Amino acid sequence: MRNRQSVGGSGRALRGHLVLPGGVSPGEVRFGARLEAVTPLSGVPDDHLILPGFVDTHVHGGGGGDTMDGPAGVAALARWHARHGTTTLLPTTITRPWKTVLAALRGVREVMDAGGVPGGADLPGAHLEGPFISPGRLGAQPPHTLLPTPQRVAEVLALGVVRAVTLAPELEGAGEAALAFARAGVRVGVGHTRANAETVTALLEAVHAAGGRGSATHLYNAMGGVEGRAPGPAGALLSAPHAFLEVILDGHHVHPTSFQLARRAAPGRVLLVSDAIRAAGLGEGKSDLGGQRVTVRGGRAALPDGTLAGSVLTLDRALRNAVGLGVSLPEASAMLSAVPAASLGLTDRGHLVPGLRSDLVVLDRALTVRQVYVAGQPVLEERA
Ligand SMILES: [Zn+2]
Repeated sequence: MRNRQSVGGSGRALRGHLVLPGGVSPGEVRFGARLEAVTPLSGVPDDHLILPGFVDTHVHGGGGGDTMDGPAGVAALARWHARHGTTTLLPTTITRPWKTVLAALRGVREVMDAGGVPGGADLPGAHLEGPFISPGRLGAQPPHTLLPTPQRVAEVLALGVVRAVTLAPELEGAGEAALAFARAGVRVGVGHTRANAETVTALLEAVHAAGGRGSATHLYNAMGGVEGRAPGPAGALLSAPHAFLEVILDGHHVHPTSFQLARRAAPGRVLLVSDAIRAAGLGEGKSDLGGQRVTVRGGRAALPDGTLAGSVLTLDRALRNAVGLGVSLPEASAMLSAVPAASLGLTDRGHLVPGLRSDLVVLDRALTVRQVYVAGQPVLEERA
């Protein structure tokens, strides 16, 4: 293989065009479990782009697995998404009866405690999406919403697995819950909400003042749009100076102009997520989400009433979609790696910088995934 050579021991080297914040330039990456050197080099293969691995902060399933299935489902989705360049992900729960949600979180914890998923993406925690959401903005979430009482929040935090949470700020107790999550290092996402802009802004400011990180759970979806006299959650999130904004760029969830609005209003704060479900990777046809029937047709997953039910997106496709909308490769790469890593407070990944984890994706010029490494271990290798 002309773009890879052994450098002794477990060390490896990749040569190609490095996608760096300032541009794309020829070079070499030497690595073991950590990146050892990132150096400019001429005469490298022209058809290999080297990027930091993708970080997906919102993914329910894929490859036939679902977070709610327990450890086997988590392993299946972690492997499926890794083959598409995702080297870090948060298995994401869906609104179900409380005991079921806690059991799913314990399942993720169990996988992490066993050392993660061989051949899969790294799992630094879970995303708790529901039940602390508005019954009036369910989207495709089943109607088992609950209030974020101090007891429930304590129960969740005691599991030590939640790294991101979705909250509707208008719920009774949401302000207190947001602070408890923020103080525990959990990213606080505003989503599935009918709050007004003032309520959203107040919550985001409180989270930031407490040293926490705020975000939008799939900006625009399950929160309504932006109007002049009623900016709503989306307007508050776009204008908040520190909020990270998840966007599902699958061509179905968000209009290209809405995506451009987010990108221009919030440079360095937009991150792309898959919100993928079990059906991602299984082709078209019938599937399920949170016990509800889902049909996938034309790359669109929907409930019987037509409500969008997550996606069948993978992050390599999200990258191609962004580039197709005129986003430069360095900016698109940041939306898939540096920004989501920062949104989770993960300082050991997201960039091609020596000392960080060797989470790497190699793409060809068509932006198709050719090789993937998680902490230096190949999870997808190019056939010679
Ligand atoms: Zn979701």
